[in-house]
Amino acid sequence: MPNASNAAQTPQARHRIEPVAEDLGRLFRAAGFQLALVGGSVRDTLLGRLGNDLDFTTDARPEQVLRILRPWADAVWEVGIAFGTVGARKDTEDRDFQIEITTYRSEVYDRTSRKPEVSYGDTIEEDLLRRDFTVNAMAVALPGPDFIDPYGGLDDLAARVLRTPGTPESSFSDDPLRMMRAARFAAQLDFEVAPEVVAAMTEMADRISIVSAERIRDELNKLLLSAHPRKGLRLLVDTGLADRVLPELSALRLERDEHFRHKDVYEHTLTVLEQAIDLETDGPDLTLRLAALLHDIGKPRTRRFEPDGRVSFHHHEVVGAKLTKARMTQLKYPNDQIKDVSRLVELHLRFHGYGSGEWTDSAVRRYVRDAGPLLERLHKLTRSDCTTRNKRKALALSRTYDSLEARIAELKEQEELDAIRPDLDGNRIMEVLGIPPGPAVGRAYQHLLELRLENGPLGEEGAEAALREWWAAQQ
Ligand code: ATP
Ligand code: MG
Repeated sequence: MPNASNAAQTPQARHRIEPVAEDLGRLFRAAGFQLALVGGSVRDTLLGRLGNDLDFTTDARPEQVLRILRPWADAVWEVGIAFGTVGARKDTEDRDFQIEITTYRSEVYDRTSRKPEVSYGDTIEEDLLRRDFTVNAMAVALPGPDFIDPYGGLDDLAARVLRTPGTPESSFSDDPLRMMRAARFAAQLDFEVAPEVVAAMTEMADRISIVSAERIRDELNKLLLSAHPRKGLRLLVDTGLADRVLPELSALRLERDEHFRHKDVYEHTLTVLEQAIDLETDGPDLTLRLAALLHDIGKPRTRRFEPDGRVSFHHHEVVGAKLTKARMTQLKYPNDQIKDVSRLVELHLRFHGYGSGEWTDSAVRRYVRDAGPLLERLHKLTRSDCTTRNKRKALALSRTYDSLEARIAELKEQEELDAIRPDLDGNRIMEVLGIPPGPAVGRAYQHLLELRLENGPLGEEGAEAALREWWAAQQ
């Protein structure tokens, strides 16, 4: 039986309710409606990780929500209105809040279609029951605040476990995407998924096929951008979900070599991903993370056991780039991102031709040119693609990469110098001085280049004057 406990029992919830939320609660009450902070906002408030997103639920219908919000909010969005959601922005002195207010739902799903059908509900308990996990099914009624937790979300939050409000089977039948969300929240929150939920995910993994590629991609992205992607990816692979959404990842596990003639590509990949994350400098980088995740997916297809007992994966980077493109296209990633990630996969091995620094300048230049704007990411990917336990080997590899980066920096500096031209070209010099082609033109050119390097640009007139002066001194 649903029961509402008072906020007094959860002082944490009381202390961290945003004044903006309280304000809005008073407005709704004055208009005769209920309003509650809900879902991720309540969970994150209790975990102390609330951002600027506030999610609310209400018994008011979208048109009524609009009427209350318009005079109060700084901007209002109606894009989600067909699903019962109104979006808004409220700017306060210290920060701006993104607000979403959704009318109570009692969702009826057409279990064969890809989209939930929306129908409005009358009570908050019913609304909470159709939410994905108990930790996302808590609410704080406002102004109050009254803490509403009919499904034991607070206990699960304390135990750091993901459990469904109803049975996992019926929840996942209603919306199979929730199986992906379990893996995503495990990765984001570093929570465990309850055993019966894992069992249902394993049993029902096939059902994910009715979910649209876009929804799957969005959850996969959130999982990858989280703090603990290894945990979420493992869940996807262990439950068989990865076989449906990212079979190339599961395939890496099948590549475990029973004779230990090569390293475990699956474990290697997860470690490379974590090492790439450690090298990020400006926050989570989806392109880099996808490239790390996919860099070796060409290996299963290219593995050969050579007569000498060794194992080879010839051209796995080329095959991997193709597979990357196909998978990301299927998951409806944007074209630019597909191009970038598959390019990185294709280039991830190039450095290994560098040996201990044998590349010519032109090989270094080609490396830089082929990577283009992806060069910084390629540095990170290549550096993280070393999971040997042999510390000396790892150090040597990283030193060699340092030396490549140093050569790139040196070349860049030189190229910039090389790119500098005097203010006048040979033709102008001949015109200005009225002389035919000959060694004097070359000397004049050299002189102007020296002046240019010494003083920076002289401008057309200044350069002409300097040229005449120099010429006079030559006579
Ligand atoms: P974050 O915004 O940090 O990704 P969140 O928990 O807010 O996390 P959202 O996807 O924004 O996640 O969804 C908001 C809330 O809506 C969730 O907390 C959950 O209560 C509910 N919800 C979202 N998607 C589903 C779904 N597919 N099935 C059931 N409930 C869902
Ligand atoms: Mg949210």
